[in-house]
Amino acid sequence: MGSIPKSTEGSITTQKKYDVVVIGAGPVGAALALSLSGKGLRVAIVEKRSRHDLLADRGDIRAYALSHATIEYLKGLNVWGALEPLSEPIQKIGITSGESLKEVVFKPPAAHAAMGAIIPAYRVRHAFLSKVIEDSVIDLYDDVSISNLDNPLERYAKVSLSSGKRLDTLMVVGADGRTSVVRNLAGLKPINHDYNQKALITVVDHTENHQGIAYEKFYASGPFATLPMPHTQSGIVWIGDSAEIDTICSLEENLFKALLQDRYDSVGKITNVSKRITYPLQLTFLSQLYHNRVVVIGDAAHAIHPLAGQSLNLGFRDVMMLSEEIISAHQVGIDIGQGTVLKQYQKSRRFDTLELISTTHGLNSLFSNSNPLLKPIRNLGLFAFAKVPGAAAYATRHAMGLSGYQTPQI
Ligand SMILES: Cc1cc2nc3c(=O)[nH]c(=O)nc-3n(C[C@H](O)[C@H](O)[C@H](O)COP(=O)(O)OP(=O)(O)OC[C@H]3O[C@@H](n4cnc5c(N)ncnc54)[C@H](O)[C@@H]3O)c2cc1C
Repeated sequence: MGSIPKSTEGSITTQKKYDVVVIGAGPVGAALALSLSGKGLRVAIVEKRSRHDLLADRGDIRAYALSHATIEYLKGLNVWGALEPLSEPIQKIGITSGESLKEVVFKPPAAHAAMGAIIPAYRVRHAFLSKVIEDSVIDLYDDVSISNLDNPLERYAKVSLSSGKRLDTLMVVGADGRTSVVRNLAGLKPINHDYNQKALITVVDHTENHQGIAYEKFYASGPFATLPMPHTQSGIVWIGDSAEIDTICSLEENLFKALLQDRYDSVGKITNVSKRITYPLQLTFLSQLYHNRVVVIGDAAHAIHPLAGQSLNLGFRDVMMLSEEIISAHQVGIDIGQGTVLKQYQKSRRFDTLELISTTHGLNSLFSNSNPLLKPIRNLGLFAFAKVPGAAAYATRHAMGLSGYQTPQI
């Protein structure tokens, strides 16, 4: 790794004024800062981990499924160039009900080469953080977290940092993930639902190529997804009841490999299995996304079931909409932290978020259920759906992020 330039820590003595202070340099927070850079706005981003630590960390072995629309957006931010060589295009998505051998297949429409791409999560984080570090407009305060927030509507909000510095700003954006501190400090109340499920993540090497096919296999015990990665590797997302996933996670390696082989037999022999990581699954929804000058985006605003691999894509759509609102207001000289911008942002995100929550929640309830009465409904439902004219095309457009909101010009 080369030397890392530009550290704002130490160069500021007491306080500095900004238009937008983003808390959290994950992919969503970084995307917002980059979207606003070069638009005449003073932008800062605060990250609790150090840049060295984040750039050295390869521990997040999740494989992100980025939709076609997200990729178009990342091209506009000049982030995709670094990610494309590390990604694998999704040529097809195959869905089975687990109990049946029949498969429903989704392919990209003729005008598109792929439905999206799979890419290791740590690569996405590194690419975004590197762009933020390179950017001459964005001030990055790393290795510090927010310790206090003063959030009046009539004057600048004040963000106090653990380092003792203070940032005064027209708008504070919480992009600090699903346990958001900003959300709490602003008094925004999440509605939570515990799925009592966990996702087990691992990466496998196999002898044959996956042909760019992603599988979603719905078993009564929970969904099981395989995500094609570069070369002959695949990401695995195995979801089930928490106790069951804990047991699977602690299995001896050969036994675990044999179970995976049984569920994923289209890629020849599974030769290697990486470490295993589990994530507890929870649904989080906010009816109010802002208070005075503070607003939340990404996982700080919503956490959804990962069975459709859409949360980060949803977070990027928050960024597209919020940045568009901020830039338009700034261009006509409106105080961006005043109610109209944030009200408009909140309104624009409601339908998209609720639709994805209800789809993932509904699919999980229908398929992750051992009630024998639901078995014929599951099989019938999936295949009847595939026969409805236009239904597969509609679902494909959704999975690619092509329905509804369109990527703005940035
Ligand atoms: C098992 C699993 C699989 C998934 N698979 C997919 C998938 O295939 N596709 C997809 O689209 N999504 C997927 N997701 C969802 C995806 O991981 C999240 O949507 C995404 O990470 C959200 O990004 P974010 O930037 O909002 O938050 P985060 O990635 O959580 O980043 C938050 C950042 O804020 C920083 N921070 C936290 N607190 C503070 C603080 N107090 N002060 C300063 N900084 C702070 C953190 O260090 C971090 O850098 C999956 C999720 C799970 C659990």
